[in-house]
Amino acid sequence: MSFSPRALGMDVPITRRDFFDGIAVSCVAGSAAHKPLTPARPFTVRGDTSEALSVAHALRDGRFWERAGPPVPTGESYDLVVVGGGRGGRGAAAEWLRRRPGASVLLLDNHDRLDEREPAPTGFDAVMCDAESFGSDTLVATGSPGWIERLPIADRARRELRLLHDDPPDWFPGVPAEGKQERLAGLTYSGFLREVCGAHPDVERFCRTMPSAEWGYDTRAFGAIDAWGTGYPGFAGLQLGEEPSRFNSPTVRSRRHGAAPAAAVPALDGRVRVRASSPVVSVRDGAGSATVGYFDGHQVLTVAAGAVILACWSAVVPYLMPDLPPERLRALRQATRVPLLEATVRLRDADAWRRLGVRRVRWTGAYWCASAFTPPDTVRLLATPCRSELGPGAGSAAGRRELLMTPYSTLEHTVRDQLARLLGPVGFDPGGGIAEITVHRWGHALAPEYCRPWHAFYPDGPFPSDAARGRFGRIAIAGSDAVPAARGEAAVVAALQAVEELTR
Ligand SMILES: Cc1cc2nc3c(=O)[nH]c(=O)nc-3n(C[C@H](O)[C@H](O)[C@H](O)COP(=O)(O)OP(=O)(O)OC[C@H]3O[C@@H](n4cnc5c(N)ncnc54)[C@H](O)[C@@H]3O)c2cc1C
Repeated sequence: MSFSPRALGMDVPITRRDFFDGIAVSCVAGSAAHKPLTPARPFTVRGDTSEALSVAHALRDGRFWERAGPPVPTGESYDLVVVGGGRGGRGAAAEWLRRRPGASVLLLDNHDRLDEREPAPTGFDAVMCDAESFGSDTLVATGSPGWIERLPIADRARRELRLLHDDPPDWFPGVPAEGKQERLAGLTYSGFLREVCGAHPDVERFCRTMPSAEWGYDTRAFGAIDAWGTGYPGFAGLQLGEEPSRFNSPTVRSRRHGAAPAAAVPALDGRVRVRASSPVVSVRDGAGSATVGYFDGHQVLTVAAGAVILACWSAVVPYLMPDLPPERLRALRQATRVPLLEATVRLRDADAWRRLGVRRVRWTGAYWCASAFTPPDTVRLLATPCRSELGPGAGSAAGRRELLMTPYSTLEHTVRDQLARLLGPVGFDPGGGIAEITVHRWGHALAPEYCRPWHAFYPDGPFPSDAARGRFGRIAIAGSDAVPAARGEAAVVAALQAVEELTR
């Protein structure tokens, strides 16, 4: 079923917001009557388009220093300056102060606020087998008795999916366990379903977005060995036991070991001086101290530092420290991140979602792959711009470009369209039922883990992150890219490591 822009409410005045990596950008919306946005930062170049250009992008493109005046010393001096206020940066500041309670610590971040991110929705109650995958929309509550029979897929696919869930054969008879694991390590989960199981294309279409909300890419990039490690259908006949495989990515391996998640990052106490809206543009080690330069919206200011922890994205570091050894610069540049797109929708008619009877819905092929309700009135939708068929690295770079180019109005249209398709049957009016839409374009959301089949050097190494990490004079590198791992805990591990390197 398709809806006209008018029926979807594209011309209805509501609050609309558009953020790129946490920074508000102007947007072009369907209605001229939407509430004004937070003004674009002074240094953004074309702030009134959906193409958000930050200081970091100006640095990357070599435009920043052409326009910035000479740095101005503030005269301030700190024992530690932390660059980046994510979990890694906050963890590093807290650990430094735990070890040296009297220290002076400055934390610089480019966002206007330091927010903790809402966890991505996982554990779905239901799957929307959508028109994009299967020609029409059918919502199926998974796990309920006979749910596979209600899927709108080919009969053969239904039989195969039942087999994969209930009683899959040993696909590699006679092959020892290590050999089976090696074969899985050479495949994505989509490849496993197609090439090993010979499954009907509808099976792969149904499963495709199973890892998306957690990993930022779908089964065309998610490894078969990690699908086995996570308990996806199809592997029970291989009899590989409970122990993780050495080919499992670090998070899957530690989960199979039953590792408890790391402790939460301590809240920043009053001893840490926090400067938001302060992107760091240069870091230099010198004779008596290091010098850190940041842009305050008008000019570059500098502070002196006894030590510096770079808990920003590793790929940014070469622009802050271009004089690092070439092999280190090369390794740092390899630390790409997986993009995510998130929409938060405040409903006027939240009862519609309650009538739906499920909390979290996975979509098989639509633009937004996950939608979840948080009482009393908020829906979160998640999309994964990564072009999974290219793999996590190349796919993320391609997806990030698309994420930047997609106009806000397209995103709003897809949000309204999917909510109309999901909630329309229980009486939701997308025109009048929505009070507010906020879009977060996370260009640099998750540090992709080393994983098979994409990183042939994994698990034996050598790892680019080892070449990128490590103390450089008074400067150490932290953040989840330094591990690398897509989980919040990883950022804390890297923070502790960086503090240890600088204080031992
Ligand atoms: C929508 C979403 C949902 C998520 N859900 C989960 C979840 O459920 N569970 C989980 O474990 N993980 C989740 N994550 C991932 C988790 O948030 C990250 O793994 C973790 O926050 C990474 O921490 P970090 O410190 O390494 O990096 P970041 O949090 O990215 O922090 C780096 C900071 O450095 C700043 N920065 C970059 N360059 C500069 C510069 N030049 N100057 C100053 N500051 C700079 C950045 O703006 C950023 O604030 C989610 C992420 C997103 C986006």
